[in-house]
Amino acid sequence: MSFAFHPDRITLPDAHFIAGEYVAAPPVIEVTSPSTGKVIGAIPCADASVVDQAVAAARAALARSGWGGIAPRERLRALHAWADLIEAEADTLAALEAICSSRPFTQAKAGDVMVTAEQIRFFAEFADKEAGTLVPVSDGQFGYIADQPYGVVGAITPWNFPISMAGWKLGPALAAGNAVVLKPSEMTPYSTLYMAELSVRAGMPAGLINVVLGDGPVTGAAITGHPGIDKLSFTGSTRAGSMIMENVARTGIKPMTLELGGKSPMVVFADADLDLAAECLDRGITPNAGQFCVAGSRMIVAREIAEELAAKLAARFARHAPADTFAAEAGFSPIISEKQLTRIDSIVQAARSAGGELLCGGARFDREGSFYQPTLIAGVDAANPAVREEIFGPVATFQTFESEEEAMALADHPTYGLCAGLFTRDLSCALRLSKRLEAGTVWVNRYGRSRDHILPTGGWKASGLGKDLGREAYHANRRTKSVLIDL
Ligand code: NAD
Repeated sequence: MSFAFHPDRITLPDAHFIAGEYVAAPPVIEVTSPSTGKVIGAIPCADASVVDQAVAAARAALARSGWGGIAPRERLRALHAWADLIEAEADTLAALEAICSSRPFTQAKAGDVMVTAEQIRFFAEFADKEAGTLVPVSDGQFGYIADQPYGVVGAITPWNFPISMAGWKLGPALAAGNAVVLKPSEMTPYSTLYMAELSVRAGMPAGLINVVLGDGPVTGAAITGHPGIDKLSFTGSTRAGSMIMENVARTGIKPMTLELGGKSPMVVFADADLDLAAECLDRGITPNAGQFCVAGSRMIVAREIAEELAAKLAARFARHAPADTFAAEAGFSPIISEKQLTRIDSIVQAARSAGGELLCGGARFDREGSFYQPTLIAGVDAANPAVREEIFGPVATFQTFESEEEAMALADHPTYGLCAGLFTRDLSCALRLSKRLEAGTVWVNRYGRSRDHILPTGGWKASGLGKDLGREAYHANRRTKSVLIDL
């Protein structure tokens, strides 16, 4: 079975992808379009026996193809062919993304798909260039540190950027010589399935990428507790990350990379270029309706420029018009589900009850689908729920400071440390505070990732463990072995 897409005639699979084949199973989880609220498909929920089957297929593919031990340039060549096919199939992939996620078709096609192909090629290049190390030991001895693939990597991804997140996991794991069992979010399964199908069509060994569908408690837990999975790579909420650590501790220790939630501060000093800052603050919370891990959801602004900046921001927020993900021009994205929209609104209302003042937004858009207005809340302190909790929506808080010390105290979050933004024309302030900020990434006079995939991404504190992207992500998919020989 293979699936084809046409907006008027959609064939969406109710099947896992194991050993290079679609494996149909009873559909038990409905998939909904957040743009319209309509159910567009249903998927199965893999239990432990299906995950067993996928792990066995991964191991068999490694044994049959010798993927981890073939000439590294062969892995590189295969991954390049897959990346080329991903690009060539951008229309279908983007449509499969837009049909159930918050990603606009046009942005997914021109952005997410192309960047993912680029990142797969970026990781492929490590395959024949990174090496172990020869180490200094006594005469009469020979010592080196070798590195080898783990074997089978278990990956679990969230719904907010399904193609990109699958690429972040699959690219480095495969380049490093592993096979993968991947579970996409139950809300956005289709683009990941198609990426797996494309890998086989591009000539990669069947069984190297296996996609099992299902929810977190059943399928996710079966992956994280599986003894045949050698390493885990997870992106999702801090809550699910904690549950995974617990399950791994209970079922058998294995190494893991966890990319978790964030509540990132955007600190704007009085000397900043205010138009640039307003543009970046807007870009830090409104794309994908604020549903991205590095969202700059806490604005911390020098008192003397606060009024002017808030007015600029409110004007920008007001210009965002919601649009169906298949609209000819990308618009403001829907919230992934009604449940998540209700959660966003309940935090906004709780923030107001706790003294927060609404500068703009604060309600859903009056139209079909799950759309929530860009929202700015001032008059909040550290205890306010809108400051404390990751909202994962288009909602930012707006706090003011009078001194650098106060700015740093406000920027420091007790739980999260994913990213931070800093806006100033003072170079020494930028360098000094970049060092002080408790975050895995700091952006100065800009906000958002560039296409410099060499920069690793990952959180401090409860925002995560280990890194995606960069050289780090490749090495996280290999394990070292120290060898010492008495000559
Ligand atoms: P989520 O944690 O609810 O789900 C993520 C994935 O984990 C899904 O596939 C889900 O089915 C699975 N899952 C849930 N519970 C599980 C369990 N107990 N065991 C195993 N798997 C389980 O997150 P979400 O709502 O899909 O995504 C939003 C979250 O992801 C936000 O917190 C966001 O900050 C985070 N995120 C982080 C990054 C990053 O790079 N740090 C990137 C994107 C998203």
